[in-house]
Amino acid sequence: MTTEQPNLFGEMEALKENHLPDKEAKEVIALTNFLPLVKVEEAYPEINEYEELWRAAQQCEKCRLRSTCRQVIFGTGNLHSKLILIGEGPGKDEDIQGQPFVGRAGQLLDKILQAAEIPRHEVYISNVVKCRPPENRLPNPDEVKICKNWLEAQIRIIKPQIIVCLGAMASQVVIDPKATISKIRGRWFSRQGIKIIATFHPAALLRNVSYKKPTWEDFKLIRDAYNEAKRCPPLL
Ligand code: SF4
Repeated sequence: MTTEQPNLFGEMEALKENHLPDKEAKEVIALTNFLPLVKVEEAYPEINEYEELWRAAQQCEKCRLRSTCRQVIFGTGNLHSKLILIGEGPGKDEDIQGQPFVGRAGQLLDKILQAAEIPRHEVYISNVVKCRPPENRLPNPDEVKICKNWLEAQIRIIKPQIIVCLGAMASQVVIDPKATISKIRGRWFSRQGIKIIATFHPAALLRNVSYKKPTWEDFKLIRDAYNEAKRCPPLL
């Protein structure tokens, strides 16, 4: 089921049933930025292969976060996935293990995906910032501004059909800078033929169990959309 949206966000189209066909969407993505306020020329347009992008990101020292983290945690999962989940940034466990979403919040995400019958190995998971902020503080706006160029490139190369924003920061980067989870969760948006939805970050569920029910409602929508996407032929 889809929800028609009032025109809350200037950048976003309300989801239309007849959104762009996959092939057309792919061409549009290749020519324009996807994330609001990201400049195409700053999002590594010269790189078109994931491996090359990953290697370049490992060398990144474009913000202060790299000086305090152990490693760049770029992303993990199926590079041809129709579904990308985006969180905020790596935490301590992620920084040690070199993978996103492996700590307590990640383990909860695994359970949610399992309940929704979405195998984790089928999806791609990343964060807005790729280096752990010290003491798990929120990434600063200037850090987000620089690092989201990597995210833009990841989306351009992986070409998902569905993006799930986990928490406010991912929602603000992907959907609208003023987005709050309570306002936008559980609704589908569409940009360049990609369906986008926001829900609570699993870490928020660990702090507040009352978020579990709405999160599950959101994941039922995500499950249905993902199953529908899987029935579509792959992008050419
Ligand atoms: S957080 Fe992002 S921009 Fe900053 S150093 Fe790490 S990879 Fe580069």
